[in-house]
Parts: sequence; structure tokens; C-alpha cells
Amino acid sequence: MPEISDRLKKVSVSASVAMTQKARDLAAQGIDVVVLSTGEPDFPTPQHAIDAAYQAALNGDTRYPPTDGTPELRRAIRDKFKRDNQLDYDVSQILTAGGAKQIIFNAMMATINPGDEVVIPGPSWISYADIVRFAGGIPVPVNCQQAHEFIPQPEDIEAAITDKTKWVLLNFPGNPTGSVATKEELQAIGKVLLKYPDLWIMTDDIYEHLIYDGREFFTLAQAEPRLYDRTLTVNGVSKAYSMTGWRLGFCGGPKPLITAMSNVNTQNSGGVCTLTQAAAVAVLNGPQDLLRERAEIYCQRRDYVLERLNAIPGLHCHTPGGAFYLYINISEFIGRTCASGKKITSDADFVMALIEEQFVVTVQGAAYGMSPYFRISYATSTERLKTGCDRIEAFCQGFL
Ligand code: PLP
Repeated sequence: MPEISDRLKKVSVSASVAMTQKARDLAAQGIDVVVLSTGEPDFPTPQHAIDAAYQAALNGDTRYPPTDGTPELRRAIRDKFKRDNQLDYDVSQILTAGGAKQIIFNAMMATINPGDEVVIPGPSWISYADIVRFAGGIPVPVNCQQAHEFIPQPEDIEAAITDKTKWVLLNFPGNPTGSVATKEELQAIGKVLLKYPDLWIMTDDIYEHLIYDGREFFTLAQAEPRLYDRTLTVNGVSKAYSMTGWRLGFCGGPKPLITAMSNVNTQNSGGVCTLTQAAAVAVLNGPQDLLRERAEIYCQRRDYVLERLNAIPGLHCHTPGGAFYLYINISEFIGRTCASGKKITSDADFVMALIEEQFVVTVQGAAYGMSPYFRISYATSTERLKTGCDRIEAFCQGFL
């Protein structure tokens, strides 16, 4: 057999994707599966996005796109950064790609030399570490404690920085914890980062609009403007506008970095589908009321699930201020035996037994770099969440 590259051998298959596949396999057998593993909104894409894409197709807007994004879209993104984040970017400082994921990929490919380190506060989104490894870098996790609501402490970030550090990645509201840093917390982190002028900083703001309890969203370059020149502000339409399948991410950042990332873009995709770009212009320039309306529904779901799960003896979850995830501590179940007779020695055992006994699909904390926890996504109907909570309760009560 011809060989697969060594680079790829360092990259794992996403655990949430693997879990979602497991759910599909069970559902194909006719089993009623409750899927709480998927990190995507259950709301439909706004009609005006679909209309704009359709109109673009009718207008013959079906040729190769400008690689960095159409002028209309880059202007809409510039205006979005100004409107929502009080950040001033020239259109030449803005880049689009096939999802925030590809933006992050392009940033790493454009900057990482073999052995460069990337500081990643965690528990964190699965893909960061894999993308860094793929680019030849070394992910350096920083453990964030539940006692601090999983907000990275400035001194812990500083302790992880070495002369090999190329990037520090930040993500608020965070996946998998839903944690949101305040402006003051960002400024405290920023104070440390100001001391290291050779670092790039990335803020992944993809859950910006999913924020609850009257909290206000701040991004790093806004909270600490002196870091603007080194910060890549990443965002996209997937989570805010229920457009995960359209694949459009974007960023604003320093021009030399954007130019380098654009070079990567020219070789790995050639730009985002023109119809998607038209749809993205429509949502970014269109009415924004749906963001608050949907956030309110997510918040009600969060409250429901949080109350149900925290009422189950042995489960402990902090109250996340954003995103649509709960990251639940299960240390009291480790070493015990569940109803089917299986001894639970890890969070991976826990989520597997939960699937096998109750057909509820979640993701083990190990996938995000902190155990023993499991993550659920509450981006699903209240009815399904109720069924899911009933089954999780039955599962936990079945332990010996
Ligand atoms: N960043 C975080 C923290 C995520 O959780 C996800 C998706 O789950 C993404 C980025 C990917 O976003 P996109 O769909 O724009 O690629």
C-alpha cells in the first residue's frame, strides 16, 4: 500500500464527529436516539439568506469567487466588526474562508514553523490542537479550573509561554464550557500578552451572539486595543445565523498576517462558494433581531437542562454564560458500576455506557482535554432535551 503522510498520523478524528456517527448508526437500526453531541444550532437558516443565495444563482453569480471574499462581503464584515465589536478594519484586513475552522487552519499554516508552540487554554475545542499539529506545531494546553468557571488565569497563560510560543488562542464563549470572559478578565490576560511582543493572539469569537444573563460580549482587541496589531479576530456565520452547512468563516487582523493567510487560501480552496457569500452578505447586513430572539430560547433551554442535571446526585455543572454546551463533572461516578454491570473508569466509559443503556449521545471530556467530564449540547428542542434529561437521570440512578 502507498503510505499516508506522517503529518496526518498526528491528527485524530474529532470525537464529536465520531459520536454523531455512532448516533446515526443507532438511528439507522430504528433506535430512538437522543443526540446531545452535535455542536450546531437546530434553528433554520434565515429565509433572507436563502433568498439571496437563490437570487445570486439566478443572476449567474456562479463563477470562481475572489479568493479573499467578494468586495460586498468584506465590506459587510468590516461593518459587522465596527457595529458589534467597535473594531476598525480596512477591507484589506479582512479574509473569508470555508468556516472559522479553515480560517484557523490558514492562520496556523501561514505562521507555524516546525516545533513552534501554541498555547491553548482548555478544556478547549477539539480541533485547535489537531490543526496546530497538522501545521507542524506543538499544542501547549493550559488547564482552566471549574472553580474559575474555566476562565484562563493570566499567570497560568504566562507560565505556559516560552521562547518557542508563536500563538496564544482564546475562545469566549468557549466550547466546551460555555465560559465567557468579562472585559476586565480579558484586560488582565491582555496585560500578560503585552509583555510578549513576538506572539500572535487569536480570539475565536464564533459563539459571540450566544450570550446570556445580560452579559456583554467583548473581544480581546476591543478590551485591550494595544494588542490590535497582533490579534486575529475570528468569527463566522455558522453558530449565530444557523448556517453551519454553508461554510463561511471570516477574520480581521494585521495586514501582513492576512496577506500570508490569503496565500494559503489560494492553494487550499480558492475561495468560498459564491452563493454562500451572497447569503452571508444578506445576514450580516440584514435585521439582527433574530440573534437576541434565538439567544433567549437557548438561555431557557440552558436553565432547564442545568436545573435537571444539577438535581441528579453526583453530577455537577457550573452555569455557563454562553454558547450552547454544558460541561458536567462526573468524578463521583468514576470507579463505580453502572446498571449494565460495566465498571466506569473514565469519562469515555461513562458516555459509552450512556449510549448503550439509554441511547443518549454526548461527548467525553477527554476529547476536550479535561476529565472526568462530559459535554452536552442543548441546541435541540426542549422536548428532546426533556427526554435526554429523563434518560440521563435513569442512567445515573442505575449506578451501584
Ligand atoms: N470554533 C469553535 C470554538 C467551534 O466550536 C466550532 C465548531 O464547533 C468552530 C470554530 C467551527 O466553526 P465553523 O463552522 O465556522 O467552521
